[in-house]
Amino acid sequence: MSPFNLETCARPNILALEPYRCARDDYKDDGTNILLDANENAFGPPVSNGAVDAPSGPSLNLSGLHRYPDPHQNSLKQLFCNLRTTHAHTERTLSPENLFVGVGSDEAIDALLRCFCVPGRDKILVCPPTYGMYSVSAQVNDVALVKVPLLPAPDFQVDVAGVRAALSGPDAAAIKLVYLCSPGNPTGSLLRKDDVRAVLEHPTWNGVVVVDEAYVDFATGPEASLAEWVVEWPNLVVMQTMSKGFGLAGIRLGAVFTSPPIARLLNALKAPYNISSLTSSIAEYALSEAGLAATRAIREKLIAQRERMLREMPRISGVGRLRGGTDSNFLLYEMLNAEGKPDNVTALAVYERLAETKGVVVRFRGKEHGCLGCLRITVGTEDEVTRFLAALERTLAEVRGIPPAADEENREAAASAVVA
Ligand SMILES: *Cc1c(COP(=O)(O)O)cnc(C)c1O
Repeated sequence: MSPFNLETCARPNILALEPYRCARDDYKDDGTNILLDANENAFGPPVSNGAVDAPSGPSLNLSGLHRYPDPHQNSLKQLFCNLRTTHAHTERTLSPENLFVGVGSDEAIDALLRCFCVPGRDKILVCPPTYGMYSVSAQVNDVALVKVPLLPAPDFQVDVAGVRAALSGPDAAAIKLVYLCSPGNPTGSLLRKDDVRAVLEHPTWNGVVVVDEAYVDFATGPEASLAEWVVEWPNLVVMQTMSKGFGLAGIRLGAVFTSPPIARLLNALKAPYNISSLTSSIAEYALSEAGLAATRAIREKLIAQRERMLREMPRISGVGRLRGGTDSNFLLYEMLNAEGKPDNVTALAVYERLAETKGVVVRFRGKEHGCLGCLRITVGTEDEVTRFLAALERTLAEVRGIPPAADEENREAAASAVVA
């Protein structure tokens, strides 16, 4: 018998890890479900053969695939700089030295932790309700969390006084990163620039402010993104991704804008060939004039469906208040019980029945801080929104009108029907 014992050999923080879960762990994509759970761009990518009319796509040079990809990606970085240099926040201009590109924002989140946090000693500050990957990645790195919740719905803005107090308190020396999400997930609220500034201007704290702008392209105005503002601060990081606004979650590309010294560290610690040639050629196409025009057209259609959901949702019996903002490609709504109160039993039942009996997958967020009874619904195509609204109306009527015992039986019957 080998003396090997996984329980004593592997790191305790890894053994205790709860992997990041998505709604698709509960409901597999069998090709018939409407997937409004993961905030992807339902309108498809801005390339040919996509689900939308688009100009011709990138030409992929497959014959070069026996060579390693470019480890520096300077031409791709320059295109990101061109896109985000708006002079809304500074007169200065971004350059590729301000950039790190990674395998989605997920690589950037992990790289920042490895760059700044000593395992078992340092901490990060997060503002719930927020994106789950910050805490998963922190735990992988054996880095503890300090939580300063956002101010209550519907604003979900940063509790600036709370954050500043935490950065002056007993944990201040251990806190290396503050993760802010703007527009927030699951809140959909753009954060105020002055609040970000107030954290950056903390007089004693020695750490980095990370603003995750995964959804910034769904917010209005060129000043929504703070990316170019990194040229004015030594310790500001702005993360973006091609997964949402650009409809390219499948290529896995994230970008970090920051000061050249921080960018140098991130580039030094990454795997040398982290971005594949296929990924960078599609990304460069998406950031070309033709790609940006196609992306803008897609975004307009998406925003029209967001407006439609904002009009239609309040007309459905059992839908409560919109929580949070409208700056993203998803909306956070309360589900009400028979007494008209936001309620997690109702919201969870609606989530399950929508998926199991109507083929519509959304995200249950009722257990997140300040999100009692809430579902987060990604904005879909016109047809998907039509089907979602009808399915939600019927599901709420079923859930709110049926006594719990009968509901349980129905649920079991429905679940076995799906399996069969
Ligand atoms: C979806 C999302 C991302 C994107 O992650 P990728 O790894 O780039 O796909 C980043 N941050 C937040 C808050 C998100 O919701």
